[in-house]
Amino acid sequence: MSDTIFGKIIRKEIPADIVYEDDLVLAFKDVNPQAPTHILAIPKKPIAKLDDATDEDLAVLGHLLLKAKQVAAEAGLTDGYRLVMNNGESAGQTVFHLHLHILGGRPLSWPPG
Ligand code: 5GP
Repeated sequence: MSDTIFGKIIRKEIPADIVYEDDLVLAFKDVNPQAPTHILAIPKKPIAKLDDATDEDLAVLGHLLLKAKQVAAEAGLTDGYRLVMNNGESAGQTVFHLHLHILGGRPLSWPPG
């Protein structure tokens, strides 16, 4: 997989407002927030998109989901939040390093656009 802006954030080559980090995952505030709280949670392993994940990624993807829950709680999202993972260009993916959007702090309508 080719390098992305998120690879640069993982390596601290460019700044980001990091809210959580461990050996496997990183979470940081989205630079262009779509809700009062908009955090991105990413695996440090460079998986371009969910379609590229394999059985080898089972543990890291489970960890990512559980850490997203922790990050949401620590951000004070007690009244619900939404997790979004865009997979592919036509789904709106623009950065090809797998990521979860954690969105909250306002009512979120359904269906999404
Ligand atoms: P996607 O459209 O791929 O699902 O989401 C990519 C997200 O990354 C967008 O919400 C966009 O605002 C965010 N983003 C893109 N570049 C940067 C950056 O350099 N720093 C941060 N913090 N977020 C970024």
